[in-house]
Amino acid sequence: MKTEILKVDPLNIALERSKLRYAADVIRGGGLVAFPTETVYGLGADALNPKAVEKIFKAKGRPADNPLISHIADISSLPLIAVEVPEKAAVIMRRFWPGPLTLVLKKAPGVPGIVTAGLDTAAVRMPSHPAALALIEESGTPLAAPSANTSGKPSPTSAEHVIADLSGKVDIIIDSGIPAIGIESTVVDVTSDPPVILRPGWVDIQMLAEYLPGIIYSGDRGRFCVSLQEEQGQDRGRFCVSKGTGEGGSSGHTEHHGGRCAGNGGGVGEDASSVRMGNDLSAISSSSSSNDEIKEKLIQSPKSPGMKYRHYAPEALFEIAGGRDEREIAGKIRELCRAYFAQGMNVGILSTVQTDSEYADLVRKFTKRANHRADQKTDNMGGLKSDHRTDHTAGHVPDNIETKIKTPAPGGVEVICLGDRKEAAGIAASLYYALREMDRRGADVILAEQIPEDGIGFAVMNRMMKAAVK
Ligand code: AMP
Ligand code: MG
Repeated sequence: MKTEILKVDPLNIALERSKLRYAADVIRGGGLVAFPTETVYGLGADALNPKAVEKIFKAKGRPADNPLISHIADISSLPLIAVEVPEKAAVIMRRFWPGPLTLVLKKAPGVPGIVTAGLDTAAVRMPSHPAALALIEESGTPLAAPSANTSGKPSPTSAEHVIADLSGKVDIIIDSGIPAIGIESTVVDVTSDPPVILRPGWVDIQMLAEYLPGIIYSGDRGRFCVSLQEEQGQDRGRFCVSKGTGEGGSSGHTEHHGGRCAGNGGGVGEDASSVRMGNDLSAISSSSSSNDEIKEKLIQSPKSPGMKYRHYAPEALFEIAGGRDEREIAGKIRELCRAYFAQGMNVGILSTVQTDSEYADLVRKFTKRANHRADQKTDNMGGLKSDHRTDHTAGHVPDNIETKIKTPAPGGVEVICLGDRKEAAGIAASLYYALREMDRRGADVILAEQIPEDGIGFAVMNRMMKAAVK
């Protein structure tokens, strides 16, 4: 299939209507259109056409038991997707729509089973991106749209990312630049009492609790349950780990220890609490023994089926370093970097503004050594001598060894700065770009810093921890 790329200026939608009308024709004809939203790029099809929706699962390689979010542009379309909308849902729709909030509601009868993976609930969102809204409007139908990436990979935060994953598999990719938020929407199940955050995002628990005071988080950290209700009147940022058995989304009861809560519900909960408490998080990594425990918990399906999979993950190993403060975290990253480099691996470090300078010497030192290693490798492969290398720089490389010189040299250590540790929104916006970029540069392992979990920082750590699961 030939994929068409349509550049659409989000600031001039009135002038871009004809392009969006053209894309909407493809949607109405049962085709696939990748489009920008304020969170990440989505892969859209007519939500009411099961044959079209099936193509989404194929193009992404998405497991059939992972339901899709339907996107609407106008509240009058809501009954096409959901029925019996409770007041608590209406309240947060009024506050956060259009925007990065998805609600799980009772499914309308016309929604094909493939969209909801057979569940009797349906997820729905009204995005705020002008190109997304215009495309949905022009299509005249809700768009089922998961993130426009190959399943399991980091979500796409540019049209280039979509092209890399889906070129040749979809009809149209609309390119409107970089999404403002950079991570997926918050998912809230309003069919349960109290309402439950199934996936954290830009709309955080504090914002939601202003409208839904009893709301809890019961996402993909298994037993990790955040209860704002219990927090009220106490220190902000105190979180609770429930004592559940590892099944379903029920939160069990919580145990309080010195102003904070700690759980005894198993590995995942305890790991998660150590994140919250700022303890050592380096145990949660793609190479640690606790991963089996984490994986096992994730596989015990929570209420949001999509959260049981490894997600958002680069090709490289991904490891998170934690600690009491940024100095300690940077120290751990340096240690890990040395250890991995000694094993012959290329290391990508995701720094922050506060720690960036801590890694400069590693780049200098190890990149030089990597070059040295590259030379040795080339020597082993073809007896390429140093005088040949001199020739190369002088432009006198004999034809027969040119290809050997072109074999990619180890990159050593590379650093990408994600942003300011105190501004998690900036880190959210650059995380997926950085993961894909490190893959492109040939990193074998990517090391990231634990960041404070205030506001969207909580969602950032959620995505990082999912990416670290092997
Ligand atoms: P994505 O489309 O990749 O942004 O993922 C959508 C997320 O919403 C996944 O984690 C799904 O499991 C979740 N989701 C979609 N529909 C439902 C539903 N009916 N109930 C619970 N979670 C849902
Ligand atoms: Mg996704």
